[in-house]
Amino acid sequence: MPSHHDVIVVGVGSMGAATCYHLAKRGARVLGIDSQSVPNTNSSHHGETRVIRLTYQEHPDYVPLLRDAYQLWEEIEQETNTQLLHKTGVLYMGFPNGEAISGVRLASETHNLPYSTLTHAELVEQFPQFNLPEGMVGALEPEGGYLLSELAIETYAQAAQRLGAELLTNEPVIDWTSDGSGVTVRTPGGMHTAAKLILCAGAWAGGLLRLQDLQLTITRQVLGWVQPKRLELFQPSAFPVWNIDPNGDGDLTGIYYGFPMSGDGLKLARHHPGQAMAPDAITDEIFPPDEEEILLPLRRYIPDALGPVQSVKVCKYTNSADGHFIVDRHPESDRVHFACGFSGHGFKFASVMGSVLSELALDGKTQRPTGFLGLFRFAD
Ligand SMILES: Cc1cc2nc3c(=O)[nH]c(=O)nc-3n(C[C@H](O)[C@H](O)[C@H](O)COP(=O)(O)OP(=O)(O)OC[C@H]3O[C@@H](n4cnc5c(N)ncnc54)[C@H](O)[C@@H]3O)c2cc1C
Repeated sequence: MPSHHDVIVVGVGSMGAATCYHLAKRGARVLGIDSQSVPNTNSSHHGETRVIRLTYQEHPDYVPLLRDAYQLWEEIEQETNTQLLHKTGVLYMGFPNGEAISGVRLASETHNLPYSTLTHAELVEQFPQFNLPEGMVGALEPEGGYLLSELAIETYAQAAQRLGAELLTNEPVIDWTSDGSGVTVRTPGGMHTAAKLILCAGAWAGGLLRLQDLQLTITRQVLGWVQPKRLELFQPSAFPVWNIDPNGDGDLTGIYYGFPMSGDGLKLARHHPGQAMAPDAITDEIFPPDEEEILLPLRRYIPDALGPVQSVKVCKYTNSADGHFIVDRHPESDRVHFACGFSGHGFKFASVMGSVLSELALDGKTQRPTGFLGLFRFAD
């Protein structure tokens, strides 16, 4: 006898856990299914922390979504008495006309967001941890900081369960069908039926969505932790989340960023498209160039942090063709919605995406500005 629910959520990761919670909060009978544990270390959300910031200049509608995301992070924190968001501020560094600095300025001025600028001399004085080339300047966004990503997923999943959601873990969804009476989802353990289906399977979304023209490129990304030479300089009280846009400084590309000290050490990573691979081909094996990717920004810009590498982890980006998320109804059925292609910057939106996806499933629409994330933009 198949189990029957109002909504099945496939993938209880960053977006899926929040979606289960928002659905259950509205009284829906929810079944969340994940092929792994919740959370897990083989998807896109592990590594303890994710940056949150408001100054998005890539599209004007990201900022209203982020304002709601902040509010919803606060709500789940209060409801569960769990701190997930740490506002350390985000310090951006780069050349004045580079993408990072001009982007922060543009977004802050367009959306009236708080920020302050720092000249090179002010940067040197206020943040002596950095040794930057002449000409680099700074911008400080006080609302930015970091989220505890695995704890956030666990918190949402447990809160959803308390509200009645059922979670099936270590159970991969093989396929799904939809007809006039509902959706049927097949797993090794059996068939599950519901009125509606939400697909948010991260790096594995492509196989489940079966949309031939949808281009999703999965890339291998590394993140690492070091033991800084001068520990005292990198404590949260004196050291914010940071972000250096090196473009214009020799041949460095991408964005280097990092976090204040935590129990695991000083975490840093590089935002750039890593090696494109099939999701199951990306393992936790580490290669010598991975350590170099972690140490390079320290050698170049943060010499007092240069110390032994404590650990390196591998994670997955699911890149859409234009770097923007993809959130829409499935072209095969009004009963099916999906969210994918978070392109290495989606976690901060998980709280609001959970709400958006619950509205799409239960109401068929959302008041939030997600139109720009639709499939229509790939129509050609
Ligand atoms: C190294 C790194 C750094 C990042 N830094 C930031 C940052 O600083 N700030 C930020 O906002 N974002 C950041 N991101 C991006 C962010 O983490 C992702 O955009 C986000 O986690 C994607 O969420 P998701 O729900 O799509 O995928 P996931 O969280 O990976 O969830 C997908 C889930 O689907 C499950 N699943 C897959 N296939 C199936 C199936 N067939 N059946 C059942 N379940 C299935 C998986 O097991 C998984 O649990 C970073 C990502 C990486 C890799």
